[in-house]
Formats: sequence, C-alpha cells, structure tokens
Amino acid sequence: MSAIIEQTIETYGIENWGAGYFGVNRKGHLIVRAAEGDNLTADVKEIIDDLGKRGINTPVLLRFPQLLFGQIRKLQKSFRNSIKEFDYNGGHMCVYPMKVNQNRSVVEEYLREGKRYNFGLEAGSKAELYAALALEQAEDSLLVLNGFKDRDFIKLAFAGAKAGKNVVIVIEKLSELDHTLRLAEETATNNAEAILPMIGVRVKLYSKGSGKWEKSGGEAAKFGLTTTEILEVIRRLTEAGRIEMLKLLHFHIGSQLTDIKRIKNAMKEAARTYAKIRQMQIPIEYLDVGGGMAVDYDGSRTSFESSANYNAQEFANDVIYVIKTVCDDEDVPHPTIIQESGRFLTAYHAILVTNVQDEIETVVEDITAPMTLAADDPQVVKELHDLRESITGKNYREYYHDALEHREELFTMFNLGLISLEDRGKGEVLFWDVCEKADGFAQQKKYVAEEFDELRRLLCAKYLANFSVFRSMPDNWALEQLFPILPIHKLNKKPTEYATLCDITCDSDGIVDKFVDLHDVKPVLELHKLEKDEPYYLAMMLVGAYQEVMGNNHNLFGVPHEAHIYIGEDGYIIKKVIQGATLGDALATVRFDAAQLHDQFRRNIVQRIKDGEVSTKEGNELIEYYESQAESYTYLSPNGSE
Ligand SMILES: *Cc1c(COP(=O)(O)O)cnc(C)c1O
Repeated sequence: MSAIIEQTIETYGIENWGAGYFGVNRKGHLIVRAAEGDNLTADVKEIIDDLGKRGINTPVLLRFPQLLFGQIRKLQKSFRNSIKEFDYNGGHMCVYPMKVNQNRSVVEEYLREGKRYNFGLEAGSKAELYAALALEQAEDSLLVLNGFKDRDFIKLAFAGAKAGKNVVIVIEKLSELDHTLRLAEETATNNAEAILPMIGVRVKLYSKGSGKWEKSGGEAAKFGLTTTEILEVIRRLTEAGRIEMLKLLHFHIGSQLTDIKRIKNAMKEAARTYAKIRQMQIPIEYLDVGGGMAVDYDGSRTSFESSANYNAQEFANDVIYVIKTVCDDEDVPHPTIIQESGRFLTAYHAILVTNVQDEIETVVEDITAPMTLAADDPQVVKELHDLRESITGKNYREYYHDALEHREELFTMFNLGLISLEDRGKGEVLFWDVCEKADGFAQQKKYVAEEFDELRRLLCAKYLANFSVFRSMPDNWALEQLFPILPIHKLNKKPTEYATLCDITCDSDGIVDKFVDLHDVKPVLELHKLEKDEPYYLAMMLVGAYQEVMGNNHNLFGVPHEAHIYIGEDGYIIKKVIQGATLGDALATVRFDAAQLHDQFRRNIVQRIKDGEVSTKEGNELIEYYESQAESYTYLSPNGSE
C-alpha cells in the first residue's frame, strides 16, 4: 500500500474506530468489508456512481446488513467465550431494543441472524409492541416490554403471550402491576389453561453509569423501583397467588457507558439484588443487564464520551465473572443473562454518503488580484501591507496582534467616514493575508498557542455538505456526539485543506465543527481541495444507531434515499433501493396535501390568465412544472445536473 494511503488511513483514524469493517483500496476509495478483516469488500465510490446512474443522487444512506450480523456474532461469541471460561451455568440471550432503529429491514435482518442464538426483541411503547407481535422470533427468545404502560399496553402484552410469544412485562410503576394482576384474573377466569405473560421488575440501582447518559442510573433515575417498592411487588404477587409469574430482574444504567469500572459496580449491585430475591424462594430465571455497551466512535479506547475503555470480550468477561462470583457467594443458581444492547449492534451498519456542494468563502482570495500599494492609501492600509511583507517565523505572534489592532482601526475609520469602501476592502484582504501567514508559522511550532487554534478555525474552509445535521446526525447537534467523517475517494491523495462542514438547513446550528481524533477533538477536518466540475463525496460513519429515528424534519428535509448492499465473492449487489422523501412527502408531515396545493396553485394561475398576465399556454406549462415538483427530492441536486 502506498505511503500516502497509509497516511490518510491514519489521518482519518479508520483503523481506530472502524472495528475492522472499513479500509481503503488501491484506487484510494473507501471500502466496506463483509466481515471484520474480510477479503470480500465493496467499493463505496463505485456504489455511489452506480446509484447515480439510476438517478439516485446523494445524500444516500447505505445499509450493510452484513455488518449488523458481524456485530451480533461478535457479541454472542464474546459471551459464549466468557461463559466457558468462567464455568458459568446460565445462558446468555439478547433482546434488541427497537427504539435504537425500528426500520423494518434492520429489525428483520437482526431477527434473521439472531434467531440462531435465541435473540429476541425489546419494545418500549405500544407501537413497537404492535410491530413486534407480528414478527417471527425464535421460539425460546424473549419479548421484553419496558417503558411506562397503560392498561391497553398490558392488554396487548397478554394478547402476545396467547399468540405464542415469551412476553415479559417489566414493571416500572406499581400501577402497572395492578393492571397486570387484574388482566391475569380475567384471563384465568375465562380460560384456566391460558398462557400468561411473565413479569419482570426494573430496579433502581444506586450505581450510576458514566458519560452523557449518566442520569439514567442512580437514585434520581426516571425509571425503576426502589427496594421497598420491589418488596411490595413481591408481597402483592404472593398475595394474589401469582408469584410464579415473576421471572426477571431488570436494570439499565444508561446508553454509551464509557467506563467499565462503573459497569462492574452496577453488575455487583444487581447480582446481589437478584441473589437476595432468589433466596426468598422466588424462582427468578433471568437477570436482564440492560443495554449501554458503548461504541468507540473516536477510536481512542478511553472513557471519553464518544469512546469506551473496553471491548466486547472484556464487557462479557466482567458481566459473567461478577454475576458468577456473587451468585456462588450467595449460593443461588446462575441466572440466564439477558442483554439489551442496541447501539453496539446497529451503529456500524449504516453510512450516510453525501456530496460537498460548494465552499462558503470567508476570505476573498479568488476575487482580488495580488495587491500593490498606492501612494495615497491610508496609513492603516500601509501598515497592514508592511506586516504582510515582513512577517516571519520569529515575529509572527507580535505581527498577528498588530494586525488585529489595525483591523479594529480600519473599521473605526470606516464608520467615521474617514476611509472609502475600496480602502476598507483592501485592508481586509491584507489582514487575512497576515492571518494566513501567521497561521502557517504557528502550525510549524511544536506547541500551537490557543489563539492560533482559534485562528485556524476562523481561517478554515467551510464546505457546504448536502445534508441536514438535524435529519441525519441529530446527536451531533443535540449532544455533541462525534461521528467519524471522511471522503470516500481521493484517499490516495494528501488532503491539503482544513474545513468545517455546514449543512443546507437555514440554521446556524447546522454545522459540524468537531471531529474525531485519537487524543483530542479536532476543530477542523483535513479534506481535499474542491475541484471544479468534479464531485467530492463524504461519508458520515457509524450512524446506524438512534440517528435515523431521532432525526427530524427541520426545514422539511426528509429521509434520504436508502440502498441496501450485499457484499459477495466478486463484488457487491445493490439489493434494494428505497426512494427518499419528495417535496410532497415532506409537506405531508406538516399536513399539507399535494392535491390541495395543486388546486390552489391552479386557481392562482387561472386568475393570472383572466388578468391577462400570462397566456393560457404559459399557464399550462407553469402548472405542469409546479405539479411535477411534488415528486422531486428534498435535497440539492448535484452541481451540473440539469
Ligand atoms: C435505550 C435502552 C436500551 C438500549 O441501549 P443501548 O445503549 O443502545 O445499548 C436498552 N434498554 C433500555 C431499557 C433502554 O431504554
């Protein structure tokens, strides 16, 4: 592999965050592997070109179900190894929390692979449950119901149990238990043989997680029952003669748990709670350890928010070891461990690819010719010119400070009417020239002073990327969560520009100016210079968890096109293409009806014809054109397409 390609792989950190799924081929294109470190690969640039030929332009969300399978296997294998290593007597099963990504294809692909290991589903709302009840699950897998539940939710759960699912109603509030017991009575009165759902309880642990979702655990958490409430559940169940329904103990201390120490503490507390309940002769079979396995988005393997200081095997080892040790100590059987990991399974499989539409200029370098001084230029312009001519690696700091002062002076003089618009323009250009030179000198130093980091941010290019942060990377906007971003081509050329990304919404929050880095957070991303008439494509990686469903309709940018890719022996197949949102679709979400809009538009045109402002022929053309727009894509068309 060429030295430049090795360099760009390092620049973008592909091997740090890629989990072995991504690489660069000899053409300098981003590739996706069928499995970790596999030889079967797909060339992302080729996929985008192929889709373009079919009229599917960027932004496009690419789904690689094989990566979802890879993650499922990695998780299953890790637990299988630990169970063997520590002589653990219980099993391990997953339930996929649908809220992470409810897209039908994701859920179905998960179940297809997961049924080999009895992996089931977790639903947190009536809508999710309604979908789950119709899906095909492995016979022994569970359907765990979390979240707040009303009577209807619980009734639907009872229907699910009768329909053959191993439903577990996790009690988050005591009122849910009352509904459940009442329905159990009704069911049993009608049919003593009827199968009832199982009951679980969610415990409020004292232990907290770490990272952005720390609040999900601890005493002040929104969910879970306190010790006294759990004892009350047990009392009421016993009194009703239904204690045998209680099968599962659940906890979840938050998503993206970055620190393994905190996880271990929570496991200890939960295992102890399980053991104590078990000693009360209550045959709980399952210990549900929730989700929260983190994705190392920045590849730093630290407890930083966008990272994790453990891998799947270490996670599994700690869970199994802690639970086993506590159970042996308390002399109770090892429970079957249920895990609700979502982010870890789905994050990798989806990539959003989009094009850079343009550059937003801050510095007017393209417009002005190299500047010469005129004799009658104001003193302040002359001073700036002097600075530009004589700045060096020794004096750049001082000269930069001088330039800042002169710029202030320039604006003051302009506001007082002392200098002309041309003078001001000239002064500005010279100021930015000094800044660029100062930046050049500053970056050569081993330690870059903070003010020059700021300057770099100011000087960097702003690339206009054809997507909406709010739609496709909402956690970047809402939580400053980092996602790896890199070009899908030209990776055999050194990126020479520093840029931040602006999206196409009319919102100044619609920017990306924090990028993954091994040691820090980068304020700018190394990218290639934009070439005229040549598309430049970027990939936003690891967006398969939460981003799609949390994404919103800001500015009415709808869901992007979607393509499902299967990677085979000698290339890839585009298995499925799903059209993204049209203008009509986007407007329907805010209750505009295309047919009604068309009627109103026609009425306007008829009036214009009556008024003699447009001809009938023109009117017809306008109507036809307007109505055709209902079917067009909400994003920008690529430059040069007509
Ligand atoms: C959100 C959630 C999960 C999934 O968490 P991940 O961090 O995606 O693994 C699991 N269980 C419950 C109860 C949740 O609310």
